[in-house]
Amino acid sequence: AKPPIHAPTPQRSTEQPTLVPATAVTAASTTPDGHLPPLLPDTPDPEHQEWNNRVNEALRNITGVEESAVRQILNEIVVKGDEVHWEDIAGLEQAKTSLKETVVYPFLRPDLFKGLREPARGMLLFGPPGTGKTMLARAVATESQSTFFSISASSLTSKYLGESEKLVRALFALARALAPSIIFVDEIDSLLSSRSDTGEHEASRRIKTEFLVKWSDLAHAAAGKDHQNDNAQRVLVLAATNLPWAIDEAARRRFVRRQYIPLPERETRKKHLHTLLQYQIHGLSEEEIDQLVDMTDGFSGSDITALAKDAAMGPLRALGEALLSTPRDQIRPVTVADFEASLKTIRPSVSKEGLQAFEDWAMKYGSSG
Ligand code: ADP
Repeated sequence: AKPPIHAPTPQRSTEQPTLVPATAVTAASTTPDGHLPPLLPDTPDPEHQEWNNRVNEALRNITGVEESAVRQILNEIVVKGDEVHWEDIAGLEQAKTSLKETVVYPFLRPDLFKGLREPARGMLLFGPPGTGKTMLARAVATESQSTFFSISASSLTSKYLGESEKLVRALFALARALAPSIIFVDEIDSLLSSRSDTGEHEASRRIKTEFLVKWSDLAHAAAGKDHQNDNAQRVLVLAATNLPWAIDEAARRRFVRRQYIPLPERETRKKHLHTLLQYQIHGLSEEEIDQLVDMTDGFSGSDITALAKDAAMGPLRALGEALLSTPRDQIRPVTVADFEASLKTIRPSVSKEGLQAFEDWAMKYGSSG
């Protein structure tokens, strides 16, 4: 099989090279047969051109969605560049294995994953904040060579409210047309909570319904014999939440796999600290790093990152105003004392009780292995 073409890495400039100037395409938003016109223009950059061609080609197969919604997805929701690989993520071996089996291998070898081995259409990553759920989703997209759609559910119900249903329709249509695709929904609880069933948020309930309908359509299309068969098979909804108990029961059951992403263990914290310190001049011995590993029990990955960043400021803070005139090679290395000072202010973001709630939910509803 030919490897899929990727969304190109954006050039680090302020202009958005894949965009058509607004004035150029205000004409008809759909062609007479209801299909979308090509939306991305020719560009001199071959990598971009390949992507633009692929999108334009895909648009020919899409009907029933609005051009503005498609544009919004292409501009804000398809993630380009900034690839994350497995080795960038410390620890979480079990989660990585499970993601490989559930998503990566089926996407790369669809011929092997049929019948009983039919791939899951939904996977939930749950656990305390800052433990690497978003990083994992991005790594899955990179490693499975998929088009990566990333949307936060809370922005669907706030920022895009009013157009959200159109956006959801366009999202699923594009994901199918550009398969293999991962639809990553962060904070899924705010979209699929039982709260929106109470009738007080009519609009959010409509978005939730639309999302669930489009998601079911995927499963039906994949099971059916229509020609879009293969594409629908290669679209996965990957969702993340810090509040798994807020997801209502019916929605929860649709996530065939529910993977607990726990706080980092000793070994993982050590690996993470080493990674953070590798380009920093420091005077920490291996023993001192081990001490830090002990002292950061209960810290999430992002707590450890925050701690190391704060500690790295120690040598500069010590200088005060003299910082402005001190040559770089005379700045002292970061020491364990800097870490100890930072530990006074940088505290774990999850409490013991909070953690227990995740462990309980994982016991009850999590997928093991
Ligand atoms: P979550 O989605 O679980 O809230 P993120 O994946 O957004 O957490 O992680 C937030 C930040 O914390 C990351 O950008 C990274 O710097 C750091 N981090 C968290 N977990 C890990 C990990 N396992 N390995 C490396 N960095 C991590």
